[in-house]
Amino acid sequence: MLNLTGKNALVTGIANNRSIAWGIAQQLHAAGANIGVTYLPDEKGRFESKVGELVEPLNPSLFVPCNVQNEAQVQATFDTVKEKWGKLDILIHCLAFASKDALVGDFSNVSREAFTQALDISAYSLVSLSHAAKPLMTEGGSILTLTYVGGVKVIPNYNTMGIAKAALEMNVRYLAAEMGVHNIRVNGISAGPIRTLASSAVGGILDMIHHVENVAPLRRTVTQKEVGNTAAFLCSDLASGITGQIVYVDAGYEIMGM
Ligand code: NAD
Repeated sequence: MLNLTGKNALVTGIANNRSIAWGIAQQLHAAGANIGVTYLPDEKGRFESKVGELVEPLNPSLFVPCNVQNEAQVQATFDTVKEKWGKLDILIHCLAFASKDALVGDFSNVSREAFTQALDISAYSLVSLSHAAKPLMTEGGSILTLTYVGGVKVIPNYNTMGIAKAALEMNVRYLAAEMGVHNIRVNGISAGPIRTLASSAVGGILDMIHHVENVAPLRRTVTQKEVGNTAAFLCSDLASGITGQIVYVDAGYEIMGM
């Protein structure tokens, strides 16, 4: 049976009630996990209050600011985990960012700055968070990230984020190979397109969703809850033999050639 009782789960990437991370946090909580939440701090404190209010029903025992580009904040996050929880069992990496000009038009137009920023936030952050989580996963653990088929095949406008997802998926394999000896499993979910704050920045997201609704075997795209259910499974002992994998939760879209 799916049971995460006694597991401490740190969830990154909740911005609002459309966030995939919100779907994941709810399903981890429903399975009995003790939830901790990080949010992206901004000057006016808007995310802090909005996200704080949203996650209240999950009674998070930890709620901390963490901009993954800020090494001191990343370290402080895991210091707090150590201090409050002692050990960490589950890390959900569910965040990405690319500036608008990295997500539309000709791919080769992207600036070095925009390219580097997208790769740093969306791919390197999995490495730095996993590095900080590793010593706290003293009883083994599960690290999970979110990716998209645009990291494997060319999707119009996904552009630089596709390169970031390709790097992210390879990070999953190298991290899984390194951490397996500590019984830490590292996997990714490749989700079908869902309307969120981040996906709205990708040019033509609605066309992408309609295309999937026409072509995918299930003739629809997926929900945050479906992604959350698979996340809960992958982070549970039911998935104890799975590591280094990218699991598609996309209504079957990825298998189609036309
Ligand atoms: P979202 O906008 O709800 O979530 C993105 C999150 O990234 C936000 O919470 C934001 O605060 C966070 N973030 C951005 N920059 C950050 C930084 N520097 N430090 C810390 N956090 C930062 O959108 P989402 O669609 O739920 O995205 C979550 C993940 O799912 C992303 O990795 C995205 O690429 C992936 N994904 C999304 C879709 C989709 O169609 N929505 C499909 C496949 C994969």
